[in-house]
Amino acid sequence: MAHVVIVGGGFAGVWSAAGAALARGDADLRITLVAPNEHLVLRPRLYEPAPDLAKVELARILRPIGVEHVRSEVTEIDTGSRMMVADGEEIGYDRLVLAAGSKLVRPRGLPGGDRLFDIDDLAGALRLTEHLRARPDCSVVVVGAGFVGLEAATELAARGRVLLVDRSEAVGEHLGPGPRKEIEAALDQLGIEYRLGTTVTEVGDGFAVLSDGTKVAADAVVWSVGMTASELTRQISDRLDHLGRIPVDRQLRATPEVFAAGDVAAAPFDAEHTVMQACQHATPLGKVAGYNAAADLLGKPLRDFTPGPYVTCLDLGGAGAIFTRGWDREVMATGAQGKDIKKRINQAIHPPVDDAAKILAAADRVSIELPFFPREPENAASTA
Ligand SMILES: Cc1cc2nc3c(=O)[nH]c(=O)nc-3n(C[C@H](O)[C@H](O)[C@H](O)COP(=O)(O)OP(=O)(O)OC[C@H]3O[C@@H](n4cnc5c(N)ncnc54)[C@H](O)[C@@H]3O)c2cc1C
Repeated sequence: MAHVVIVGGGFAGVWSAAGAALARGDADLRITLVAPNEHLVLRPRLYEPAPDLAKVELARILRPIGVEHVRSEVTEIDTGSRMMVADGEEIGYDRLVLAAGSKLVRPRGLPGGDRLFDIDDLAGALRLTEHLRARPDCSVVVVGAGFVGLEAATELAARGRVLLVDRSEAVGEHLGPGPRKEIEAALDQLGIEYRLGTTVTEVGDGFAVLSDGTKVAADAVVWSVGMTASELTRQISDRLDHLGRIPVDRQLRATPEVFAAGDVAAAPFDAEHTVMQACQHATPLGKVAGYNAAADLLGKPLRDFTPGPYVTCLDLGGAGAIFTRGWDREVMATGAQGKDIKKRINQAIHPPVDDAAKILAAADRVSIELPFFPREPENAASTA
């Protein structure tokens, strides 16, 4: 029987599995998902104070839709023989969906680097939560004032003093100038000190040394400087982008027999942009890549990846959240209204479980639905 194998059990992998099951219908086709984890980890929620809640048992999604789960880590992929090696065992495929995600970029040779904390995966987020639980009124240094660092810093401000440092000269540099004023106001409101043009050069027991030589108190140093795609991408293509991602076409095909989805895929969003390494894109990418991998084997028409509007929702802890729309990240909602949207997004990213019809119906909806997002900037009336 023809075999679709999906590597990865994050948003992209899970939705690839559902997309493949949708395309299979009643046809004979074996679908296997290979990933070491027992749970889908909802990485966008790992900054929350109870990260253990940010997970969904994979079996509750895969079993109802007839997808086998092999709990192994893939180390080799041979696209010539269509074989992979996972924990020493060989697995053959007819179509492969690579959805092995991304990992935090870690510093090399940083003195005390083994003392760093992160919220990149569930184990890291739990370790940080446990560490700080024993240290009320702690001092924390967050390195990296991008999306993840800002969410971590503003959430940690409720647990102690936070110093946010970033090598660049602007807070949220990659988010552009659109939401910057609101972000800076939120940091001020929460009493978060930030130092720009600065990084951490050493981590010690209860302290960190900054690149200007200053020694600051630090019960924890949280590293959040960006993500890079899984190393498995190198076994598929030698034309990776600056994030280590594989270029794919509109049907998410990387080679005749390999599709890619999620944080490993540099898929075209529009004429100017590729997708972001974001759950917002990993989910629809998975749905299309999985569908196409199965459809290709079954002789069905393939689907194009047609993303919905690009939005962001940045949680700012006790200062609410900022919801933006478009690549210029025009601010549409802030404060309590933004927070309400963030809460609804963080619920909406939980896939349906235990119900094949609901899971397959969700796999068939590729564009994100924005029923609860405001259509106009909240200050439109006052500026009109
Ligand atoms: C703290 C944080 C906050 C975020 N906030 C947001 C947000 O607000 N909005 C948003 O859109 N995005 C957000 N993101 C980004 C989002 O979480 C990722 O883009 C998304 O998780 C990517 O999904 P993925 O399935 O491609 O990869 P991942 O979530 O990285 O999953 C990869 C999967 O592949 C498996 N895997 C890896 N290597 C192998 C291997 N060799 N063999 C087998 N399996 C393997 C892993 O175990 C995992 O199951 C955030 C990320 C973080 C860390």
